[in-house]
Amino acid sequence: MNARNLFAPVLLAAALAVPASAMNPASPLPPAPNQPMSPVILDPGHGGDDEGAIVRGVREKDLALVFARKLKARLARNADLPVVMTRDTDRYVTLDDRLVDSVDMSGSIFVSLHLTHVQGKKASGAIVYSYGAEKLRKWRKRRHPSVPPMPAPPRGQADDSARLARTFSRALRADGFKAEASRSDYYVLKNPAAPSVLIELGYLNNPDEAAKLTDGAYQDKMVESLAKAIEEYATARSIRVDMPVATKVAVKR
Ligand SMILES: [Zn+2]
Repeated sequence: MNARNLFAPVLLAAALAVPASAMNPASPLPPAPNQPMSPVILDPGHGGDDEGAIVRGVREKDLALVFARKLKARLARNADLPVVMTRDTDRYVTLDDRLVDSVDMSGSIFVSLHLTHVQGKKASGAIVYSYGAEKLRKWRKRRHPSVPPMPAPPRGQADDSARLARTFSRALRADGFKAEASRSDYYVLKNPAAPSVLIELGYLNNPDEAAKLTDGAYQDKMVESLAKAIEEYATARSIRVDMPVATKVAVKR
């Protein structure tokens, strides 16, 4: 955490002073068929002075940006999925400004990308967090601060975030990656504007995993899985909008 993060809630409270209907992704007015989705917001963690984890010269802020750029490029092949990045350079972005993009752009989903660093562990694999009470993990360094004044997201949206997290972890496992869905109260997961997840792509302190995460071919393979998850979620979401209510319930389960 750094000092700037402490002021995040005040700024966001002002920025979010928009009608609740404008922030609710489950609008009562479904989009017309063939209408493009509102943008996917990709959020490369950290940036600028906030470098995130640094292990053997690999900086979390750089690697998160590499993955985000590759994921944006991959999603660009799907014309129905516009993508906006909260940062596309090595610059610091406040936690609030990351979420304000979701509100201003009517983001469809918010995906924050990070890498993990823990001391003295050989843990591996990706963890996809959505908002909720976190299992007690005394060993985990809390590098992504939770700022209490931000209220929890609406229940229905939290459920959608959990569904999105499971879609990511399933897609990664289907392609041979180790991945699990979990819960946390990280600030960006309280995003009131769209279903939101924070993905820890892997453990930088694990030398074998760090070598993979910095390998271009491995990055491309992982990005392909992430893109498939976003496309799957977007497809299911539009099916729910267009289908009769009885069918919607079945699909949501
Ligand atoms: Zn991070």
